[in-house]
Amino acid sequence: MAIVTPLDTNSSGRRRLALASPANLEPIGEIDVQNAADVAAAVDRARKAQVDWGALPISERARFMVRALEILLERQEDILSTVIAETGKPRTEALQMEVFAVGDALNYYAKNAERILKTEKKTLHGLSRWMKRLRIVYRPLGVVGVISPWNAPFVLAMNPSIQALIAGNAVILKPSEVTPFSGLLAGEIFAEARLPDGLLQVLTGDGETGAALCRAGVDKVAFTGSVATGRKVAVSCAEQLIPCTLELGGKDAMIVCDDVNLDYAAAGAVAGAFMNTGQYCCGTERVYVVDAVADAFTEKVVKRVSELRQGADGEFDVGAIFWPRQLEIIEEHVADALDRGATVLTGGRRNPDLQGLFYEPTVLTDVDHGMQIMREETFGPVLPIMRVANEEEAIELANDSTYGLGGSVWTRDNRKGIKIAERMESGSVCVNDMTMTYGIQEAPFGGRKESGIGQVNGETGLKGYCHAEPILVDRRGGKMSVSRYPYRAKSDAGLKKFMKILWGTGLGRWLS
Ligand code: NAD
Repeated sequence: MAIVTPLDTNSSGRRRLALASPANLEPIGEIDVQNAADVAAAVDRARKAQVDWGALPISERARFMVRALEILLERQEDILSTVIAETGKPRTEALQMEVFAVGDALNYYAKNAERILKTEKKTLHGLSRWMKRLRIVYRPLGVVGVISPWNAPFVLAMNPSIQALIAGNAVILKPSEVTPFSGLLAGEIFAEARLPDGLLQVLTGDGETGAALCRAGVDKVAFTGSVATGRKVAVSCAEQLIPCTLELGGKDAMIVCDDVNLDYAAAGAVAGAFMNTGQYCCGTERVYVVDAVADAFTEKVVKRVSELRQGADGEFDVGAIFWPRQLEIIEEHVADALDRGATVLTGGRRNPDLQGLFYEPTVLTDVDHGMQIMREETFGPVLPIMRVANEEEAIELANDSTYGLGGSVWTRDNRKGIKIAERMESGSVCVNDMTMTYGIQEAPFGGRKESGIGQVNGETGLKGYCHAEPILVDRRGGKMSVSRYPYRAKSDAGLKKFMKILWGTGLGRWLS
């Protein structure tokens, strides 16, 4: 992500920020920090625009998503260059994580939202089925505030916005102040797709703008970012009694069993730890490898890591650290680990050959849970590997964390892998793959413990942008109401007898 420098306020009194690329430190632009009045005006516009949009059939809204998909395909190079300038990530990562992932989301929700949000007709249980009919209607919430982080600036701005929009809401998107141009591009794509004015507005700014958005009368906040900011958003939403989803940080564990295919597991560890230069919420942040295969596994990992190419131009595998503060955290965690007895097998320092914010891909061993590197989110290209006696110890250590976002298990025995996955205290777990659940549209995604509240994506996520309204219809046109009053002791006695027959006998329970 870009390096941010505060500038003087502009003539309208808004603060301004200047941004520079983390890869080559060159300036890439300036933004206004939009204030509470800007946010209030945007919410007002959004609320007006949402009325007609919310009344459209989902199939009509889906057409806008298909148009946005066409624009996405046309403007791939703009997206790539914007993301790369702001983050310094390799082109292949920008293409896969940002462009492909957004294309897949646009296509998936355009094709499936109507089915997922279709009114459900429910048959009631027991005798009520003869008296009432129930339908559940998925109604848009109104205006949704989307607040996004810097590490995947295009997809994490677009994905929640697509879901909220197709569900019938208006969206106010507040991208990270360090990657605002990817967020602004999201706005341009929807504008080119001829989305009606006011339905997707992008507000630039930092925490001031984000905090104002949470308090501007929106109907939900979809937040992705750090635990510390997530807590503030949660407090703000709780005070106003509005819902929020919080997609927060993680410290994902990888468990390597003794029956593993070592080549696959080593390759998976490297992809999991170094993709997006380790700045990936579901990145592999710690490995527990069973003693019997620990040496062979570690050797293979180190070989692969030492072959990774780090750079800023042309073809390379590992990019820059997106901002200076992250580099400091990485250095602090590695220094703490070394002080407490860890060993560096490769890397372990800033890259001396590159000018921007580059930290060498690093592998550590002799680590333990007394070290920050095993307990706190590092969010960098560092892979600590811990040897454990057996799988039980691995599960225990994996769960010994305040985080619970993702995780992975590596074994040739899928059944065992699933059993271990079911015992991990994680929002999602992959068997024989790095954590990639966020990219699977059907999978609900969200963290446990401090990694978040609620889930995004898939049916659960899409329905989360709606109120599920039960509409209960009396089959006899309301006739029952006439016999409700007056209350009589005789009727109470009748009800008691009825309950005894209904739930006091096997036949009654079966019928009810
Ligand atoms: P951050 O919390 O610093 O910022 C996130 C967003 O919140 C930014 O847009 C920021 O301007 C805004 N913000 C700041 N203060 C605010 C306030 N008081 N009220 C409302 N909004 C405010 O996070 P970051 O550093 O941009 O992102 C990195 C973090 O995000 C990491 O911890 C990473 O694990 C996490 N993350 C989680 C997921 C997930 O899906 N679980 C995905 C990506 C990143």
